[in-house]
Amino acid sequence: MISIKHLSKSFRDPDGSVLTVLKDVSCDIQKGEVISIIGPSGTGKSTFLRALNMLEPPTGGEIWVDGENIMAKGYPLDLLRRKMGMVFQSFNLFEHMTILGNITYAPVRLLGLSEEEARAEAMELLRKVGLSQKADVYPASLSGGQKQRVAIARALAMHPEVILFDEPTSALDPTMVGEVLSVIRQLAKDGMTMLIVTHEMRFARDVSTRIFFMNEGVIYEDGSPEQIFEHPVRSATKQFVNRIQKLVYEIDGDGFDYLQIRTELSQFCLKYNISDKVEPSYAIIKEMLFEHLKDIRPLTFRITHAELSGETALDFMAEGLTESPLPKNEAVEALRGRVKEIVEEPTARGFRVKLILK
Ligand code: ADP
Ligand code: MG
Repeated sequence: MISIKHLSKSFRDPDGSVLTVLKDVSCDIQKGEVISIIGPSGTGKSTFLRALNMLEPPTGGEIWVDGENIMAKGYPLDLLRRKMGMVFQSFNLFEHMTILGNITYAPVRLLGLSEEEARAEAMELLRKVGLSQKADVYPASLSGGQKQRVAIARALAMHPEVILFDEPTSALDPTMVGEVLSVIRQLAKDGMTMLIVTHEMRFARDVSTRIFFMNEGVIYEDGSPEQIFEHPVRSATKQFVNRIQKLVYEIDGDGFDYLQIRTELSQFCLKYNISDKVEPSYAIIKEMLFEHLKDIRPLTFRITHAELSGETALDFMAEGLTESPLPKNEAVEALRGRVKEIVEEPTARGFRVKLILK
């Protein structure tokens, strides 16, 4: 359906220097594929999507869609944009139009639908994304998650052959990420062809038929979710997919600001969607810092979250110790039942107690 050959894109800076963002991207995309594009920021993921629908005309290479070279002179760009819907991080709704107006605008003007037909179809799409009660309001009154669902409905109204998503959940409050991902999940089930730039690793693994790991302007590794996430071949891919998020605190003496730690922890948990898991453990953190390990100072406390495996752990590290600082008493025994596992292990510089959360 789409065939990309040696695609490249460079930007010329005002000072004349050239920045090559896409180096040599080649791939074939079949109808019905759901491809998640993952990779560090600044590696050309957005530029790749924008080059595909000619929002950023490529510098070199070829893009074939349904057997036609869309980079050839005279290829109608409105046809291309109809075939390729795009959903942006920042929604890009028309603020002065109602939700219904946003969805019917292009089908009436570009597909030649009557207002009635367009409205009927828009209502059907709004039902599909769970927003039929919002047809007559303006975007300003919607939450970010709702706006993004409208943006998806608007893209669908053009009957695209493929939809390109550029980080559709990155601008959202963490509590709204799920509602947008579940709409995309449903589209995947319906067989929609999609390219999705995303940082949501577990979503990418679950929903995609294929993963592109982009790095330094090329598709650095291309494979099934299982290949890329479980058995990545190249080292940059390994590093990226096994990424661990963490918050670290150095605790010295009793004058540390526990409330500050709590506040930052809740924000961290919201961001990585692990509040349900960590909130019940606040009591454990307090117990560790103020009871079991109260005499161990300095102490490094960190919370780590492996995005892909979903393992979340509390780490307590004490330098210079050769055995576990965790006392052997009833309170600590009781603690064992409240976590998944307690690992006590020496490190290069001391000793670590690691509580893997349930
Ligand atoms: P990603 O989406 O992977 O984070 P982008 O495709 O947005 O990466 O950007 C890749 C690189 O291209 C960045 O260094 C960015 O600064 C540069 N870039 C993107 N768009 C432009 C532009 N219009 N002009 C100049 N440089 C750009
Ligand atoms: Mg981007």
